[in-house]
Amino acid sequence: MNEYTDSLQPPLKKAKLDEADMFMTIDKYIDLIASTDKPLKVVLDEVVSAPLPITKVCIGHIKDVKAISKTVLLLNEKMPLRELQHLKRVRKQEIVLCPSSYLKDTSIKQYLAGCDEKLTEIFDSFKEADVPMLPPKLKSQFDDTRKYWPCNFHPDKYLEKLFSDNVFSADENKLHRLYMRMVFVVTKWFCERTGISIGHVNSNRVSKDLNVTVIVDPSINSVVAISTDNRLKHPIQHSVMLAIDNVARTQKGGAWDIDHKLDDDAFIDLELLNFLKMEFRNVKFGHRKFVSKRDSSNNGIEVLDQDGPYLCTGYYVYMLREPCVMCSMGLVHARARRIFFCFDNEEDGALKSKAKLQTVASLNHHFEVFTGFL
Ligand SMILES: [Zn+2]
Repeated sequence: MNEYTDSLQPPLKKAKLDEADMFMTIDKYIDLIASTDKPLKVVLDEVVSAPLPITKVCIGHIKDVKAISKTVLLLNEKMPLRELQHLKRVRKQEIVLCPSSYLKDTSIKQYLAGCDEKLTEIFDSFKEADVPMLPPKLKSQFDDTRKYWPCNFHPDKYLEKLFSDNVFSADENKLHRLYMRMVFVVTKWFCERTGISIGHVNSNRVSKDLNVTVIVDPSINSVVAISTDNRLKHPIQHSVMLAIDNVARTQKGGAWDIDHKLDDDAFIDLELLNFLKMEFRNVKFGHRKFVSKRDSSNNGIEVLDQDGPYLCTGYYVYMLREPCVMCSMGLVHARARRIFFCFDNEEDGALKSKAKLQTVASLNHHFEVFTGFL
Protein backbone atom coordinates (compact mmCIF):
# COMPACT_ATOMS: atom_id res chain seq x y z
CA MET A 1 0.00 0.00 0.00
CA ASN A 2 3.03 2.27 0.27
CA GLU A 3 2.68 3.20 -3.37
CA TYR A 4 0.02 5.71 -2.37
CA THR A 5 2.24 7.73 -0.10
CA ASP A 6 4.92 8.32 -2.76
CA SER A 7 2.68 10.58 -4.79
CA LEU A 8 1.29 12.44 -1.83
CA GLN A 9 4.06 14.68 -0.58
CA PRO A 10 2.26 18.05 -0.92
CA PRO A 11 -1.04 16.94 0.72
CA LEU A 12 0.95 15.21 3.48
CA LYS A 13 2.33 18.50 4.80
CA LYS A 14 -1.17 19.80 5.28
CA ALA A 15 -2.35 16.49 6.65
CA LYS A 16 0.20 16.62 9.46
CA LEU A 17 -1.29 19.81 10.84
CA ASP A 18 -4.74 18.31 10.98
CA GLU A 19 -3.77 14.78 11.79
CA ALA A 20 -4.79 14.60 15.43
CA ASP A 21 -7.96 16.48 14.74
CA MET A 22 -8.64 14.44 11.67
CA PHE A 23 -8.57 11.04 13.34
CA MET A 24 -10.60 12.32 16.25
CA THR A 25 -13.06 13.57 13.69
CA ILE A 26 -13.33 10.25 11.89
CA ASP A 27 -13.90 8.53 15.23
CA LYS A 28 -16.58 11.07 16.04
CA TYR A 29 -18.22 10.41 12.69
CA ILE A 30 -17.99 6.66 13.20
CA ASP A 31 -19.86 7.00 16.51
CA LEU A 32 -22.35 9.50 15.20
CA ILE A 33 -23.27 7.56 12.05
CA ALA A 34 -24.26 4.51 14.08
CA SER A 35 -25.79 6.18 17.12
CA THR A 36 -28.15 8.72 15.54
CA ASP A 37 -31.52 7.58 14.25
CA LYS A 38 -32.20 10.61 12.05
CA PRO A 39 -34.19 9.36 9.06
CA LEU A 40 -32.39 9.35 5.71
CA LYS A 41 -33.60 11.69 3.01
CA VAL A 42 -34.16 10.87 -0.63
CA VAL A 43 -32.57 13.20 -3.21
CA LEU A 44 -35.16 13.80 -5.90
CA ASP A 45 -36.13 16.42 -8.39
CA GLU A 46 -37.80 19.22 -6.37
CA VAL A 47 -40.16 19.68 -9.33
CA VAL A 48 -41.91 16.44 -8.32
CA SER A 49 -43.06 17.92 -5.02
CA ALA A 50 -43.32 21.58 -6.06
CA PRO A 51 -46.72 23.27 -6.48
CA LEU A 52 -48.10 22.43 -9.92
CA PRO A 53 -47.79 25.12 -12.60
CA ILE A 54 -51.06 26.64 -13.75
CA THR A 55 -52.35 27.21 -17.28
CA LYS A 56 -55.50 28.79 -18.72
CA VAL A 57 -58.29 26.94 -20.49
CA CYS A 58 -61.56 27.94 -22.12
CA ILE A 59 -64.67 26.62 -20.35
CA GLY A 60 -68.12 26.32 -21.90
CA HIS A 61 -71.39 26.37 -19.90
CA ILE A 62 -73.73 23.76 -21.39
CA LYS A 63 -77.39 24.70 -21.98
CA ASP A 64 -78.90 21.26 -21.46
CA VAL A 65 -77.62 19.02 -18.66
CA LYS A 66 -78.97 15.96 -20.48
CA ALA A 67 -76.64 16.63 -23.41
CA ILE A 68 -73.46 16.40 -21.32
CA SER A 69 -72.45 12.78 -22.08
CA LYS A 70 -73.06 13.12 -25.81
CA THR A 71 -71.17 16.42 -25.88
CA VAL A 72 -68.18 14.98 -24.03
CA LEU A 73 -68.00 12.10 -26.54
CA LEU A 74 -68.11 14.58 -29.43
CA LEU A 75 -65.49 16.83 -27.78
CA ASN A 76 -63.17 13.89 -27.06
CA GLU A 77 -63.37 12.95 -30.73
CA LYS A 78 -63.10 16.41 -32.29
CA MET A 79 -61.24 18.37 -29.62
CA PRO A 80 -59.20 15.93 -27.50
CA LEU A 81 -57.46 17.53 -24.50
CA ARG A 82 -54.10 15.93 -25.41
CA GLU A 83 -51.59 17.44 -22.91
CA LEU A 84 -54.34 18.07 -20.33
CA GLN A 85 -55.59 14.47 -20.06
CA HIS A 86 -55.30 14.69 -16.27
CA LEU A 87 -58.24 17.16 -16.10
CA LYS A 88 -61.75 15.91 -15.59
CA ARG A 89 -63.62 17.35 -18.55
CA VAL A 90 -66.85 18.22 -16.72
CA ARG A 91 -67.70 20.11 -13.52
CA LYS A 92 -71.45 20.41 -13.03
CA GLN A 93 -72.60 22.26 -16.20
CA GLU A 94 -69.12 23.43 -17.12
CA ILE A 95 -66.97 21.66 -19.69
CA VAL A 96 -63.28 22.18 -20.49
CA LEU A 97 -63.10 23.01 -24.20
CA CYS A 98 -59.44 23.70 -25.01
CA PRO A 99 -56.31 25.49 -23.75
CA SER A 100 -56.68 29.28 -24.15
CA SER A 101 -53.42 29.22 -26.14
CA TYR A 102 -55.34 27.57 -29.03
CA LEU A 103 -57.40 30.74 -29.46
CA LYS A 104 -54.74 33.23 -30.50
CA ASP A 105 -56.48 34.91 -33.45
CA THR A 106 -59.90 33.39 -33.21
CA SER A 107 -62.91 33.38 -30.89
CA ILE A 108 -64.03 30.20 -29.11
CA LYS A 109 -67.22 30.18 -31.25
CA GLN A 110 -65.18 30.22 -34.47
CA TYR A 111 -62.86 27.54 -33.05
CA LEU A 112 -65.80 25.26 -32.13
CA ALA A 113 -67.31 25.75 -35.58
CA GLY A 114 -63.96 24.80 -37.12
CA CYS A 115 -63.95 21.54 -35.14
CA ASP A 116 -67.60 20.59 -35.65
CA GLU A 117 -70.66 22.72 -36.54
CA LYS A 118 -72.78 20.77 -34.00
CA LEU A 119 -70.69 22.21 -31.15
CA THR A 120 -71.73 25.81 -31.81
CA GLU A 121 -75.28 25.45 -30.46
CA ILE A 122 -74.52 23.50 -27.27
CA PHE A 123 -73.14 26.24 -24.96
CA ASP A 124 -74.80 29.40 -23.68
CA SER A 125 -71.68 31.09 -22.26
CA PHE A 126 -67.89 30.81 -22.14
CA LYS A 127 -65.21 31.82 -19.66
CA GLU A 128 -61.52 31.40 -19.05
CA ALA A 129 -60.25 29.45 -16.00
CA ASP A 130 -56.96 28.45 -14.34
CA VAL A 131 -56.20 24.73 -14.24
CA PRO A 132 -53.12 22.65 -13.24
CA MET A 133 -50.84 22.27 -16.26
CA LEU A 134 -49.43 18.90 -15.09
CA PRO A 135 -50.95 15.84 -13.44
CA PRO A 136 -50.65 15.74 -9.63
CA LYS A 137 -48.18 13.08 -8.49
CA LEU A 138 -48.46 13.53 -4.74
CA LYS A 139 -51.59 13.73 -2.61
CA SER A 140 -50.60 17.24 -1.42
CA GLN A 141 -50.54 18.39 -5.06
CA PHE A 142 -53.87 16.68 -5.73
CA ASP A 143 -55.38 18.50 -2.75
CA ASP A 144 -54.09 21.77 -4.26
CA THR A 145 -55.79 21.07 -7.58
CA ARG A 146 -59.20 21.22 -5.89
CA LYS A 147 -58.80 25.02 -5.76
CA TYR A 148 -58.77 25.09 -9.54
CA TRP A 149 -60.42 22.23 -11.37
CA PRO A 150 -61.08 18.52 -10.67
CA CYS A 151 -58.23 16.24 -11.76
CA ASN A 152 -57.70 12.53 -12.20
CA PHE A 153 -55.28 11.20 -9.61
CA HIS A 154 -53.69 7.79 -9.20
CA PRO A 155 -51.88 7.77 -5.85
CA ASP A 156 -48.40 6.30 -5.94
CA LYS A 157 -47.81 4.85 -2.48
CA TYR A 158 -44.08 4.44 -3.02
CA LEU A 159 -43.61 8.02 -4.21
CA GLU A 160 -45.58 9.27 -1.20
CA LYS A 161 -43.27 7.26 1.04
CA LEU A 162 -40.14 8.64 -0.64
CA PHE A 163 -41.30 12.18 0.11
CA SER A 164 -42.13 11.40 3.70
CA ASP A 165 -39.66 11.09 6.57
CA ASN A 166 -40.33 7.37 6.78
CA VAL A 167 -38.79 5.97 3.63
CA PHE A 168 -37.11 3.29 5.71
CA SER A 169 -38.25 1.44 8.79
CA ALA A 170 -36.18 1.83 11.96
CA ASP A 171 -34.46 -1.51 11.26
CA GLU A 172 -33.68 -0.55 7.65
CA ASN A 173 -32.28 2.79 8.81
CA LYS A 174 -30.06 0.96 11.26
CA LEU A 175 -28.74 -1.30 8.52
CA HIS A 176 -27.96 1.59 6.15
CA ARG A 177 -26.16 3.34 9.01
CA LEU A 178 -24.19 0.20 9.75
CA TYR A 179 -22.88 0.04 6.16
CA MET A 180 -22.15 3.78 6.18
CA ARG A 181 -20.28 3.29 9.43
CA MET A 182 -18.23 0.68 7.59
CA VAL A 183 -17.43 3.31 4.93
CA PHE A 184 -15.96 5.53 7.69
CA VAL A 185 -14.08 2.67 9.33
CA VAL A 186 -12.54 1.81 5.94
CA THR A 187 -11.76 5.51 5.41
CA LYS A 188 -9.91 5.65 8.72
CA TRP A 189 -8.05 2.43 7.91
CA PHE A 190 -7.07 3.81 4.50
CA CYS A 191 -6.08 7.27 5.79
CA GLU A 192 -3.92 5.80 8.55
CA ARG A 193 -2.11 3.57 6.07
CA THR A 194 -1.59 6.11 3.32
CA GLY A 195 -1.38 9.44 5.14
CA ILE A 196 -4.17 10.93 3.03
CA SER A 197 -6.09 13.55 4.98
CA ILE A 198 -9.84 13.16 5.18
CA GLY A 199 -10.05 16.95 5.07
CA HIS A 200 -11.09 19.68 7.44
CA VAL A 201 -13.19 19.07 10.48
CA ASN A 202 -16.67 20.43 11.04
CA SER A 203 -17.44 20.83 7.38
CA ASN A 204 -18.41 18.87 4.36
CA ARG A 205 -15.13 19.72 2.65
CA VAL A 206 -13.84 16.20 2.70
CA SER A 207 -10.67 15.84 0.65
CA LYS A 208 -11.61 15.84 -3.01
CA ASP A 209 -8.92 13.22 -3.59
CA LEU A 210 -10.67 10.64 -1.50
CA ASN A 211 -13.74 8.53 -1.65
CA VAL A 212 -14.54 5.11 -0.23
CA THR A 213 -17.18 2.74 -1.61
CA VAL A 214 -18.91 -0.25 -0.03
CA ILE A 215 -21.23 -2.29 -2.29
CA VAL A 216 -23.88 -4.49 -0.68
CA ASP A 217 -26.17 -7.16 -2.11
CA PRO A 218 -29.34 -6.49 -0.06
CA SER A 219 -30.96 -9.78 -1.15
CA ILE A 220 -28.47 -11.68 1.03
CA ASN A 221 -27.36 -8.73 3.19
CA SER A 222 -23.73 -9.20 2.29
CA VAL A 223 -20.86 -6.90 1.39
CA VAL A 224 -19.84 -7.75 -2.19
CA ALA A 225 -17.02 -5.26 -2.82
CA ILE A 226 -15.16 -2.45 -1.10
CA SER A 227 -12.77 -0.05 -2.76
CA THR A 228 -10.70 2.84 -1.56
CA ASP A 229 -9.31 5.45 -3.95
CA ASN A 230 -6.37 5.44 -6.35
CA ARG A 231 -7.07 8.62 -8.32
CA LEU A 232 -3.75 10.21 -7.41
CA LYS A 233 -1.94 7.45 -9.31
CA HIS A 234 -4.53 6.71 -11.98
CA PRO A 235 -6.93 9.48 -13.06
CA ILE A 236 -10.03 7.34 -13.44
CA GLN A 237 -9.48 4.90 -10.58
CA HIS A 238 -11.92 6.65 -8.29
CA SER A 239 -13.16 4.32 -5.56
CA VAL A 240 -16.55 3.85 -7.24
CA MET A 241 -14.96 2.77 -10.53
CA LEU A 242 -12.69 0.34 -8.68
CA ALA A 243 -15.64 -1.01 -6.69
CA ILE A 244 -17.66 -1.61 -9.87
CA ASP A 245 -14.62 -3.37 -11.35
CA ASN A 246 -14.44 -5.56 -8.25
CA VAL A 247 -18.14 -6.39 -8.62
CA ALA A 248 -17.39 -7.36 -12.25
CA ARG A 249 -14.80 -9.82 -10.89
CA THR A 250 -17.60 -11.60 -8.99
CA GLN A 251 -19.12 -12.19 -12.45
CA LYS A 252 -15.92 -13.36 -14.12
CA GLY A 253 -15.17 -9.89 -15.51
CA GLY A 254 -13.04 -6.98 -14.33
CA ALA A 255 -10.81 -4.74 -16.40
CA TRP A 256 -8.02 -3.57 -14.13
CA ASP A 257 -5.02 -5.42 -12.77
CA ILE A 258 -4.93 -4.70 -9.08
CA ASP A 259 -1.56 -5.13 -7.42
CA HIS A 260 -2.82 -5.81 -3.91
CA LYS A 261 -4.32 -9.16 -3.03
CA LEU A 262 -8.10 -9.48 -3.10
CA ASP A 263 -10.21 -12.06 -1.37
CA ASP A 264 -11.78 -14.48 -3.91
CA ASP A 265 -15.18 -14.50 -2.31
CA ALA A 266 -15.65 -10.88 -1.35
CA PHE A 267 -13.56 -8.78 -3.72
CA ILE A 268 -11.99 -6.76 -0.96
CA ASP A 269 -8.33 -6.19 -0.10
CA LEU A 270 -7.40 -9.19 2.06
CA GLU A 271 -5.84 -7.21 4.88
CA LEU A 272 -8.82 -4.88 4.98
CA LEU A 273 -11.25 -7.79 4.95
CA ASN A 274 -9.54 -9.48 7.91
CA PHE A 275 -9.65 -6.18 9.78
CA LEU A 276 -13.33 -5.62 8.97
CA LYS A 277 -14.31 -9.16 9.97
CA MET A 278 -13.02 -8.32 13.45
CA GLU A 279 -14.72 -4.92 13.57
CA PHE A 280 -18.06 -6.04 12.12
CA ARG A 281 -18.58 -9.53 13.45
CA ASN A 282 -22.25 -9.69 12.44
CA VAL A 283 -21.76 -8.51 8.86
CA LYS A 284 -21.59 -11.03 6.02
CA PHE A 285 -18.99 -10.67 3.25
CA GLY A 286 -19.16 -12.36 -0.13
CA HIS A 287 -21.26 -12.54 -3.28
CA ARG A 288 -23.91 -14.93 -4.56
CA LYS A 289 -22.49 -17.68 -6.75
CA PHE A 290 -23.58 -17.52 -10.34
CA VAL A 291 -22.89 -20.03 -13.05
CA SER A 292 -23.44 -19.05 -16.66
CA LYS A 293 -25.63 -21.30 -18.84
CA ARG A 294 -22.64 -22.04 -21.04
CA ASP A 295 -20.52 -23.25 -18.12
CA SER A 296 -23.30 -25.32 -16.63
CA SER A 297 -24.14 -27.14 -19.91
CA ASN A 298 -20.49 -27.77 -20.77
CA ASN A 299 -19.31 -28.98 -17.43
CA GLY A 300 -22.41 -30.35 -15.81
CA ILE A 301 -22.06 -27.85 -12.98
CA GLU A 302 -25.06 -27.50 -10.74
CA VAL A 303 -26.71 -24.19 -11.52
CA LEU A 304 -27.30 -22.13 -8.41
CA ASP A 305 -28.75 -19.13 -10.20
CA GLN A 306 -28.58 -18.73 -13.95
CA ASP A 307 -29.91 -15.22 -13.89
CA GLY A 308 -27.00 -13.61 -12.12
CA PRO A 309 -27.11 -9.84 -11.94
CA TYR A 310 -25.60 -7.58 -14.56
CA LEU A 311 -22.87 -5.77 -12.60
CA CYS A 312 -24.60 -3.94 -9.74
CA THR A 313 -28.24 -4.83 -10.57
CA GLY A 314 -30.17 -4.69 -7.30
CA TYR A 315 -27.12 -3.64 -5.30
CA TYR A 316 -26.82 -0.81 -2.78
CA VAL A 317 -23.77 1.44 -2.95
CA TYR A 318 -22.53 3.32 0.14
CA MET A 319 -20.05 6.16 -0.30
CA LEU A 320 -18.21 8.68 1.79
CA ARG A 321 -18.83 11.51 -0.68
CA GLU A 322 -21.32 12.27 -3.41
CA PRO A 323 -19.79 10.77 -6.59
CA CYS A 324 -18.54 12.83 -9.54
CA VAL A 325 -20.17 12.71 -12.99
CA MET A 326 -17.93 9.89 -14.25
CA CYS A 327 -18.61 7.69 -11.22
CA SER A 328 -22.33 8.50 -11.24
CA MET A 329 -22.59 7.50 -14.91
CA GLY A 330 -20.59 4.38 -14.06
CA LEU A 331 -23.25 3.55 -11.47
CA VAL A 332 -26.00 4.17 -14.05
CA HIS A 333 -24.29 1.79 -16.52
CA ALA A 334 -23.71 -0.74 -13.73
CA ARG A 335 -27.47 -0.63 -12.88
CA ALA A 336 -27.03 0.06 -9.15
CA ARG A 337 -30.37 0.21 -7.33
CA ARG A 338 -29.71 2.63 -4.48
CA ILE A 339 -26.89 5.04 -3.75
CA PHE A 340 -26.15 6.34 -0.26
CA PHE A 341 -23.60 9.05 0.42
CA CYS A 342 -22.62 11.05 3.47
CA PHE A 343 -20.95 14.28 2.33
CA ASP A 344 -22.02 16.55 -0.51
CA ASN A 345 -19.42 17.11 -3.21
CA GLU A 346 -20.00 20.73 -4.05
CA GLU A 347 -17.25 20.77 -6.67
CA ASP A 348 -18.48 18.11 -9.06
CA GLY A 349 -21.14 16.01 -7.34
CA ALA A 350 -23.57 14.63 -9.89
CA LEU A 351 -26.36 13.30 -7.66
CA LYS A 352 -27.22 16.43 -5.67
CA SER A 353 -24.76 19.33 -5.85
CA LYS A 354 -24.10 20.06 -9.53
CA ALA A 355 -26.61 17.74 -11.17
CA LYS A 356 -29.10 15.02 -10.32
CA LEU A 357 -28.47 12.24 -12.81
CA GLN A 358 -31.14 10.15 -11.11
CA THR A 359 -33.76 12.61 -12.40
CA VAL A 360 -32.59 12.74 -16.04
CA ALA A 361 -35.50 11.12 -17.89
CA SER A 362 -33.49 10.28 -21.01
CA LEU A 363 -31.10 7.95 -19.17
CA ASN A 364 -32.02 4.28 -19.51
CA HIS A 365 -31.55 3.44 -15.83
CA HIS A 366 -32.52 5.31 -12.70
CA PHE A 367 -31.38 4.59 -9.17
CA GLU A 368 -32.57 6.12 -5.93
CA VAL A 369 -30.26 8.39 -3.97
CA PHE A 370 -30.26 8.91 -0.21
CA THR A 371 -28.26 11.10 2.15
CA GLY A 372 -28.76 12.77 5.55
CA PHE A 373 -26.58 10.48 7.68
CA LEU A 374 -25.27 13.32 9.84
ZN1 LIG B 1 -15.54 9.92 -9.34
